[in-house]
Amino acid sequence: MKRYTVVGAGLVGSLLSLYLSKKGHQVDVYERRKDPRKNKKSEGRSINLALSERGWASLKEVGIEKEVLFDAIPMYRRVMHDIEGKLSYQDYGKNSQAIYSVSRGGLNRLLIEKAESKPNIKISFDHKCIAANLNDASVTFEHQRKTNEIKNDAVFGTDGAFSKIRLEFQKRSGFSYSQDYIEHGYKELNINPGPDGSFRLEKEALHIWPRGGYMLIALPNPDGSFTCTLFFPMKGELSFESLDSSNKAKEFMSQNFGDALELMEDFENQWNTNPTSSLVIIKCDPWNVKGKSILLGDASHAIVPFYGQGMNSGFEDCRVLYEIMEKSDNLESAFESFSTTRKPDADAISDLAMQNFVEMRDLTGQPDFLLRKKIENNFSNLYPDKWMPLYSQVTFSQIRYSKALAEGKKQDAIMQKVMKIQNIEKLWNSEEVNNFILNSLL
Ligand SMILES: Cc1cc2nc3c(=O)[nH]c(=O)nc-3n(C[C@H](O)[C@H](O)[C@H](O)COP(=O)(O)OP(=O)(O)OC[C@H]3O[C@@H](n4cnc5c(N)ncnc54)[C@H](O)[C@@H]3O)c2cc1C
Repeated sequence: MKRYTVVGAGLVGSLLSLYLSKKGHQVDVYERRKDPRKNKKSEGRSINLALSERGWASLKEVGIEKEVLFDAIPMYRRVMHDIEGKLSYQDYGKNSQAIYSVSRGGLNRLLIEKAESKPNIKISFDHKCIAANLNDASVTFEHQRKTNEIKNDAVFGTDGAFSKIRLEFQKRSGFSYSQDYIEHGYKELNINPGPDGSFRLEKEALHIWPRGGYMLIALPNPDGSFTCTLFFPMKGELSFESLDSSNKAKEFMSQNFGDALELMEDFENQWNTNPTSSLVIIKCDPWNVKGKSILLGDASHAIVPFYGQGMNSGFEDCRVLYEIMEKSDNLESAFESFSTTRKPDADAISDLAMQNFVEMRDLTGQPDFLLRKKIENNFSNLYPDKWMPLYSQVTFSQIRYSKALAEGKKQDAIMQKVMKIQNIEKLWNSEEVNNFILNSLL
């Protein structure tokens, strides 16, 4: 039996501890925050995330998907709100395929609860990692102004985008690292439930207000509220910086997102008190130091949230690493193999997430885009073994992200030609168009 240290009991670290404990190894988890189950109230607003196939598959493996599903809201389609408040719709997948809105705090608490119920997992809260020796897996933590060093067989860095463990990697020769802030940041705003706890927008949908250079989205919560997120430039003529008073912000919201603003009763207060946060992309390589230290989740690949895949890919990391570790008792070769095989997939979802931002904020509002999706879906229904739309590959399958990215490029080239066919808006489900796609795939 081995003894492992996991740094960070966020979404990925707490799930990882469940995986690592499966074979009977002892897992010591250290988390900087206080126990989130004890100060639920301090969380305030309900912040949610979209959970999809890769996440579900990883939760299933440790037997907790049913409990997560209990409080999850399926979102079967995108509902686009145009500037006049007119709605259009786009199904996410086929039949009952959906992405699920789950509470970030609720899911993290459940994972922690499950981890703590295992006799071989111990979680220490209020323990901040302040240093680590990656060669021998010793980690120093600060707790109540005292420090202590823990040395186990291996250390798993799941301490998020600004990982302290990764900082130790950065000091090593041969470690490549990049950190890029995108132009856009975000602010969360809430739509309260109706008086009887009803949903004031369509419940089982992800709402988007695409406005070209920026967008608002909203995901439902079980209490009838919606968490909205405004993705908007941080600086510039029209930006968080330029909307420097709640009056200016309200004016801007009323011009651009009037139907949403009407539902935000205490908008000014929310605008003034909710933080404006930036979005960062982090890439690094390699993710391991021999069989002693390894990074997973946002610590190794922080991505922008526009494909709803950050947590899902972090959860998939846990499953992929576990499968590799099951095949080999040699930690060094297992970590090496994970780092080299998973890295191209992390890079691919990072690129796909950026691409999807353009699609969400701009294209979803355009009739041509909706027509293109209709053609793709129609063809995919007729020839499911020949065409799975890129969105489905990423969201409703476990196809490697790198493969999905490559397939998506091929599909894009074909669809660009299809959209140039004369009278395509009339011919969209014709034999001619379907044959054209079939021939292009040869
Ligand atoms: C606006 C927004 C929307 C998003 N929406 C989605 C979505 O819809 N779907 C999706 O799949 N993903 C989404 N994501 C991404 C998702 O939030 C992250 O990918 C996910 O939280 C990563 O989990 P993690 O455990 O790796 O990191 P984190 O969640 O950041 O957890 C890291 C943990 O480590 C702890 N820690 C940090 N430093 C230390 C230290 N020195 N010592 C000890 N502990 C430490 C932290 O307290 C924390 O508990 C979104 C992200 C953003 C910003």
